[in-house]
Amino acid sequence: MGNPLWEALFAPHEGAGTPFLHLPDGAVLTHGAFLDRAARMATALRQAGAGPGDRIAVQVEKCPDMLAVYAACVKAGIVFLPQNTAYTPAEVDYFVGDSGARLLLADPAAEGLAAVVERHGAALMTLAGGGAGSLAAAADGAAPMARVEAAGEDDLAAILYTSGTTGRSKGAMLSQRNLLSNAQALATAWGFTADDVLIHALPIFHTHGLFVATNISLLAGGAMIFLPKFDADAVIDALPRATSMMGVPTFYTRLLASERFTREAAAHMRLFVSGSAPLLAETHRAFEARTGSRILERYGMTETNMNTSNPLVGERRAGTVGPALPGVEVKVCDGEGRELPRGEIGTVEVRGPNVFLGYWQMPEKTAEELRPSGFFNTGDLGVMAQDGYLTIVGRAKDLVISGGLNVYPKEVEDALDALPGVEESAVIGVPHPDLGEAVVAVVVPEAGYAPDEAGLLAGLADLAGFKRPKRIVLVGELPRNTMGKVQKAALRAAHAGLFG
Ligand code: ATP
Ligand code: MG
Repeated sequence: MGNPLWEALFAPHEGAGTPFLHLPDGAVLTHGAFLDRAARMATALRQAGAGPGDRIAVQVEKCPDMLAVYAACVKAGIVFLPQNTAYTPAEVDYFVGDSGARLLLADPAAEGLAAVVERHGAALMTLAGGGAGSLAAAADGAAPMARVEAAGEDDLAAILYTSGTTGRSKGAMLSQRNLLSNAQALATAWGFTADDVLIHALPIFHTHGLFVATNISLLAGGAMIFLPKFDADAVIDALPRATSMMGVPTFYTRLLASERFTREAAAHMRLFVSGSAPLLAETHRAFEARTGSRILERYGMTETNMNTSNPLVGERRAGTVGPALPGVEVKVCDGEGRELPRGEIGTVEVRGPNVFLGYWQMPEKTAEELRPSGFFNTGDLGVMAQDGYLTIVGRAKDLVISGGLNVYPKEVEDALDALPGVEESAVIGVPHPDLGEAVVAVVVPEAGYAPDEAGLLAGLADLAGFKRPKRIVLVGELPRNTMGKVQKAALRAAHAGLFG
């Protein structure tokens, strides 16, 4: 037995002098140097007592060494379990306890974690950019691990926690096959080669920056301009040296807000990809008007990697997430998993080698969402066009049921966003004594506009009465997490008392 993920992503680059990471200080980390570091990290992790099948929880700021830990885990058969850097010690406590991690890798400056590891019988090591931390020091003094631990395609490679948008984050168990099949499908679909230089400004604790971006680059043998976080000026400065970028929708709205982001500035880029949250059709159009190129939007999630993508060659349809990727089946169903006729709204279900093994230590939740047929109920609502292009219309949990009638927030948001003076909006259901839930719109006005509630409501005359908001609340900005996802649970909590 080999180790398919290692053999496809990492082994081909051993000893190679080709650039892998372009760092902010101008330094270049070659593929060969990266893999040497990973091999030393693997030894250091083994010396720290982590062996095949063990989980290591990693809450470390984005840095090349954190990617080296990921590579080391694949080589040594250790399960990589990255965590959002924004989590508090109390949250890390939950994840360490839930995952049964043997080792917690944290920032040297982090406080309150000694008690966490003590409570769960784990070890604590530290790591930060620039070679700081006890694991970095151990790797400096370790010999590179030459041995590659055998792992099968169905063996666990990583546990990634979902973003927690709709409830407590769940640990998605991802196999070697899940990761490798998706990297292969995407690298082919998006035409990635060794000549690509990808702007990487995403976090690496999430599937987008870790698996979509990094695995594709490794598979293709290309390089990444590795930025610590998104900064519009830093990205604009990188454009002339890059070929491609993967981002969340807010990256694109922030680029468009900069006068420096021009057609000339983007001229060297062959591809801009968006995902992790809905890209407004308006942003898509504004981006094309500014740069002449169309953003390629795709759709996926922690549990499944990527499921659908607009095409590299062919129509990139604004407001849609494109057709299913090769090898992935996508259908829109009623609540029972029966496929609906095209054009009807229902739950999106997916099946393929990309679909995860289940939720870590949540057999009941797994059984609820993962059908015996292999189809996974994503919890997203969508509609499939006749030609197979999927449009996401929201999440099942965000559906508003007002007076017994279904209101899809996206339909109301789209109508609001199209009104003059509206920058963006979020529509939620709020408890209401008569209706059960009332439709409430939270609206961010465009700079320089002060729309009033009556004026906005008049603009929604084309919507059926039960879909029109009972209240419109104006705010300066919508609450978003690091992946640019609107936090509707926070909005519902903030406005729960409107009709009480
Ligand atoms: P949780 O499952 O814990 O509630 P989450 O679903 O936000 O959190 P992720 O796995 O990070 O966690 O996000 C996947 C979700 O993001 C998808 O189910 C979908 O709702 C949304 N999403 C991803 N890409 C797109 C897209 N292109 N358009 C619309 N929504 C998208
Ligand atoms: Mg989810």
